[in-house]
Amino acid sequence: MTSTESLKVSTASFSSRIITWYDKFGRKQLPWQQAKTPYKVWVSEIMLQQTQVSTVIPYYIKFMERFPSIEALAHAPQDEVLHYWTGLGYYARARNLHKSAQIINKDFQGLFPIDFDNVLALPGIGRSTAGAVLSLSLGHPYSILDGNVKRVLARHSAIGGWPGQKVVENQLWELTDKLTPIQDVQKYNQAMMDMGATICTRSKPACEQCPVAIDCEAQLIGRQNEFPGKKPKKITPEKNAWMLVLVKNKQVILEKRPPTGIWGGLWCFPEFSSRQDLDEYMQIKGIKISQEESLPGFRHTFSHFHLDITPVLINLDSWDDKQIMEDKSSVWYNLSNPPKVGLAAATERILASLGSVLNKE
Ligand code: SF4
Repeated sequence: MTSTESLKVSTASFSSRIITWYDKFGRKQLPWQQAKTPYKVWVSEIMLQQTQVSTVIPYYIKFMERFPSIEALAHAPQDEVLHYWTGLGYYARARNLHKSAQIINKDFQGLFPIDFDNVLALPGIGRSTAGAVLSLSLGHPYSILDGNVKRVLARHSAIGGWPGQKVVENQLWELTDKLTPIQDVQKYNQAMMDMGATICTRSKPACEQCPVAIDCEAQLIGRQNEFPGKKPKKITPEKNAWMLVLVKNKQVILEKRPPTGIWGGLWCFPEFSSRQDLDEYMQIKGIKISQEESLPGFRHTFSHFHLDITPVLINLDSWDDKQIMEDKSSVWYNLSNPPKVGLAAATERILASLGSVLNKE
């Protein structure tokens, strides 16, 4: 592991080469880069966590059309915010964005705070995101350390180890702090993210196009793929779930999940950990089964486990609305006129496979 002290390159030359590269090749036409505001940059930064730019753009445009200001976002119902996030995944991001908008609206008169510690105190905003919002939108000289920047720096200074480890992360923070310039911080930070996304990519980095290749330690020793170090492998547990798809007149029953936990606050088919539990539920509800059809099973992978899902489709021949709807957190979801609510990824997938089954009828 190379210490930051042993860095052979001068700070000025590193950042100036990065900025020169940005002027020529960096991305300047992204929707959130036009008439930049902290709100626009904040929404884009949150959407870009774990998601690629090309995927984010259409979501960002629709989101900003519906919630053009912090105030508009703060006043929207959470269900609607989650609806505009449906498909992007990692829904805690949307819930935190919404919560933060409400805090800003209440405590900062709807104006995004400019004090670093106030930004950092908002739900869902870590040190790198706070730095990105304040530097990219306002030019405040804060460093950033997202996944792309980590990769560029770990390779350039041959910093080994997995950046998820505190000791490695601290080393990278020390380095990014040291290299980030006060002048042109907007360009520099944007360039580092662009470099990581387009040149210093995970596999097969295009070192021949890189402005800092000449003193990149990983490149010089031909071991780019060894930096940053990989996360230690561990066996991901597997779980099973049965999802009950009750259909009547092209409507299905969906339940709202509790606010915390997986798919928190999103709408999902009733879920059971065994087929027996599902059958007991049907018995208790007095639901008569006229026809059961199997839908294709599938695996949904969370960060900490795999969930193997078996959807069970049941057409109700006589249904008692009150009996099934006695729980306030359930709705009949109309497939021809879907309400604007946030759907769990598994719900979306089952709804997609449902189309062909229902059209057969
Ligand atoms: S030379 Fe290659 S490995 Fe090194 S920073 Fe540039 S693109 Fe990444």
